[in-house]
Amino acid sequence: MQDTWLDLVHGGCCVGCGRAGRSLCRACAAGLPVRGRAARPTPCPPGLVACTTAGEYDGLLRTLVLAHKEQAVLSLARPLGRCLAAAVGPFLAPRVTTVLVPVPSPRAVVRGRGHDPVLRMARRAAARLHHPPHARVEVLALLTTRLPVADQSGLDAVARRRNREGTLQVRPRARARLARSGVPVRVVVVDDVLTTGATVREAQRALEDAGVPVAGVATVAATRRRLPVPGGRS
Ligand SMILES: [Zn+2]
Repeated sequence: MQDTWLDLVHGGCCVGCGRAGRSLCRACAAGLPVRGRAARPTPCPPGLVACTTAGEYDGLLRTLVLAHKEQAVLSLARPLGRCLAAAVGPFLAPRVTTVLVPVPSPRAVVRGRGHDPVLRMARRAAARLHHPPHARVEVLALLTTRLPVADQSGLDAVARRRNREGTLQVRPRARARLARSGVPVRVVVVDDVLTTGATVREAQRALEDAGVPVAGVATVAATRRRLPVPGGRS
């Protein structure tokens, strides 16, 4: 496994199929989702706004998210940004500036990885969607972490929610900048993967507590049971 990762990072081959060359070949890139769709955690944290995602957190999309985040294959920010842009699409509205607010990673994690993957993807998504005067999209790092977050893996939905409560806060300067802008804005929280929804619900809480209404949540991917089943009950 480690060799595979070393190949990905140093060998110059596609993370999807292993073909020599760019980090994502054209054929694999063509298989990525291009439209956003609704997603909902089950169970859903009470009060969570509408969520959209580009695709299922599986296969190629999962490989891309992990290689970008954990292995810092930074060139993947572009295709992942395209996926995030697809998820943000349903929230765009005319004559309104869409503000993408990335879910922040703890500073120590960003230092360890050498980059902030969600912020990087959000910037790519905004660059792709920003076409004034038809669409205005920008990124504003409104949120920061307040408390160290314990490892979420192995926790159920309720435990994750408790683990997350009060861990994010709004940066006063960024909040002031948003207030000064004077233009109508629509705030969309963006993240890489929707799992239980605890993290994005905490982002929503922090923003709303600071007087910033949240229009929705958009993620690159969502775990399978977070997606509505066609014709099913969820
Ligand atoms: Zn490929």
